[in-house]
Order: sequence, then C-alpha cells, then structure tokens
Amino acid sequence: MSTFDANDSNDPSSGSSIPFVTLGSLIPAAPAGFKSGFIAIIGRPNVGKSTLMNRLVGQKIAITSPVAQTTRNRLQGILTLPTAQIIFVDTPGIHKPQHELGVVLVRNAQNAIGSVDLVLFVVDGSVPAGGGDRYIANLLNQASVPVVLGINKIDQQPTETSELDQSYQQLAAVHGWTVAKFSALTGDGLEELQTCLIDRLEAGPYYYPPDLITDQPERFIIGELIREQILALTREEVPHSVAVIIDRVEEDPEITRILATIYVERDSQKGILIGKQGSMMRTIGTNARQQIQKLLMGKVYLELFVKVQPKWRQSRLQLSELGYRVEE
Ligand code: GDP
Ligand code: MG
Repeated sequence: MSTFDANDSNDPSSGSSIPFVTLGSLIPAAPAGFKSGFIAIIGRPNVGKSTLMNRLVGQKIAITSPVAQTTRNRLQGILTLPTAQIIFVDTPGIHKPQHELGVVLVRNAQNAIGSVDLVLFVVDGSVPAGGGDRYIANLLNQASVPVVLGINKIDQQPTETSELDQSYQQLAAVHGWTVAKFSALTGDGLEELQTCLIDRLEAGPYYYPPDLITDQPERFIIGELIREQILALTREEVPHSVAVIIDRVEEDPEITRILATIYVERDSQKGILIGKQGSMMRTIGTNARQQIQKLLMGKVYLELFVKVQPKWRQSRLQLSELGYRVEE
C-alpha cells in the first residue's frame, strides 16, 4: 500500500495523482478467488512457534528464546499475499500449569484452538514425539478443527527417514493430519508450508489492511523486545517473574523517547536486573534499544525503571493490570 503526504494530496496545485485515502478504504475488497482465515500455531513450549510466525510475516513481532514459555499473550501475525491473507495466532506453549499465570496461558491456548479455521500443530523435529505432543494431539482431537502437523527444526534432523521422523509421521497418520516439514530458522520448506496452508483455507475477505503485520499495538511489541533481552541476559528465577509496562512514548521527528518499568516479584530479582553498578540494566537497555530502533526505523532513547511488586503472577487482577489478557 502506498503512503502519501497529507499536505501534498490536499494541495491541488501539487499535481499529485495520489487519491485521497479514507480510513474505510484501507481494507480493499478481496479479488475473486481470494482466500483468508485464522490459523492458530499450537505446540509445546520451545518448538519454534514464535520463530516461525516472525519468519512467515517477515518481521520480528513475537519474541523468541531458548527459555521455555516466553510467549504470554495471544499475538496475531498477519501475512498478506496477492491471493490470500493468513492471520496467524501465536499461542503460549501448552503444558501443565504450575501457577495462576500458567493457568491463564494454557486456557488462552485452548480458546485459540476453538476459534480458528485451521490449526498448525508445530513439533520439534530434532527430538522424538513425546507425552507432551500426545497431550496436545488429544486436545486437538476433541476440537474437531482441521490440523496440519508442522515438523520444525529439520535442520537438526539426522536423516529424512529417521525413527525420530517416523514418530511424528505416525502421530499424523493416526489422526489423519497433513504433514509439512520445515526449518523456521533457515527458512527451508516454508514456501511449501504456505502453499499447504492456503490450500486448506476457504474463500474470504481481507480481515486487515494488507500492510499490517500484527494486531498488537507498537507499545506491546516494544515491551516484549525489552522482556526478550531480560530473558536472554538473566537466568532462571528472573525471567518468568518479569513484566514490562511501557509508561510513556514521546515521538519527536528526531528521536522517540520511551519510558518503561520492569516489574519483578522480589528484591533479589531487582538486584540481579540492576547488576553491579547498574551494568546489567545498561546492557539490557542498550540491546533492547537497538531492537526497538529496528522496529521503529529511527533513533530511540530508552529509560528503564525496575519495581518490585510481590506475587504479581498469582493475582489475576494484577495480571490484567499489567496487560496480560485474561480470557474467559
Ligand atoms: P516457542 O516457545 O515455540 O515460541 O519457541 P521459540 O520460537 O521461542 O524458539 C525456541 C528456540 O528454538 C529458540 O532458541 C529458537 O532459535 C529455536 N528454533 C526455532 N526454530 C528452529 C529451527 O528451525 N531450527 C533450529 N535449529 N532451532 C530453532
Ligand atoms: Mg513463543
């Protein structure tokens, strides 16, 4: 979609041929044969769901990490092609919940299954199918929604016909699912995956403007990019007990100023985040700023605060105050 300078297009003497664009016309009418639909990306934690979604929409909107359970809210990634629009719903990994946040995450994933046109069940092709995969397979079986089994991480599979691969092929055969194999990291097999998914969608409209890649506000993604650095740079006890709230975003032509607060549960975690003479906070800030600059395509000034808010994970009220959608 073309962008335009509002001043120019309103000035008849400019001779601009760009038509005046109203909000309503941002979503064009779909051409004949156009397909569209919502596809939930479901799977155990760490199988590569977020990496896959970023790769498919062509920009980093979901954070990824070697640490399990990084994705919290449902996040939609939108892929628009000349012939189709796919809205991918990235979900937190499904696993046994251990605290209130876990319960919310799993319930949100289950809700996602019930409200989409197709499920892309992603598994880690570098390890054999396990109990966690079968648990999800059963959930999907109860939901009567079409499923494509996506075997990811084939860059780490020893051979195409290994026993390991067979364990997934069997799982798919039992349920009558189509299989797609790919690597979200290298991009191998992703075009075939796209074709396979579009084949299974029905004719439909544009749900979003063609140039939109996510339904989440920029603020949310900025918070996630900060959280991603915390996950990457600190270990064990900090990552899961951190929430990031963007307090303020001020946009100047030269620079965007962002103030954000990082909430942790204990003083000890605050200490780790701040680090020796603030060194950890500086590294988190610098790295996050670089990522945010890529997202906003401009200069960013980022100021981070750390606050202790005990037991925020246990409280549903606080969860929603901190911006985690609690879906009923
Ligand atoms: P999620 O929890 O399912 O969303 O998983 P992430 O997308 O956060 O990925 C978990 C880890 O797996 C990260 O370290 C990714 O870099 C890695 N990963 C994802 N896809 C691939 C892949 O195709 N090949 C390999 N080797 N690693 C991958
Ligand atoms: Mg994820």
